[in-house]
Amino acid sequence: MRCHKAEHHISLKLDNELKPNQDLKLQKHLQRCASCKKMYQDYQRIQTGLQNIPNPEFPPQLHHLVMTALPGRNRKAELHKMRLSLATAALSIVLSITAGTYVGYQGYSSTQSYTQTLTEEVSSDGLFGENSLMAVSYDE
Ligand SMILES: [Zn+2]
Repeated sequence: MRCHKAEHHISLKLDNELKPNQDLKLQKHLQRCASCKKMYQDYQRIQTGLQNIPNPEFPPQLHHLVMTALPGRNRKAELHKMRLSLATAALSIVLSITAGTYVGYQGYSSTQSYTQTLTEEVSSDGLFGENSLMAVSYDE
């Protein structure tokens, strides 16, 4: 294994995404390559250090302070925008239902007229001849 590949494997190992057979190859490389071994140990130390940083405590009023400090916020305009987008969403739902119903109805009526035509043809011996076996089996 070359150092470049070892570096990639070290990154995978720190993310717990290194497969066992790759880990074995990496360990072999780390045993004989001092610079990669040092890099691995450094990365490990950084990762451990990052994991041990405590979450900072924020004062409870911080959210309010940030929100009031934001410039140019107009609640009425935001409310109007929200109503407008709700209206657009409702309109598109109604339109899609209407279009779906229309397409479904069109499809149903065309199927019905096709079935009707087919039935008429069969009953008048138009589809199969008078002496056809199919016509006989329909009569029974
Ligand atoms: Zn190396």
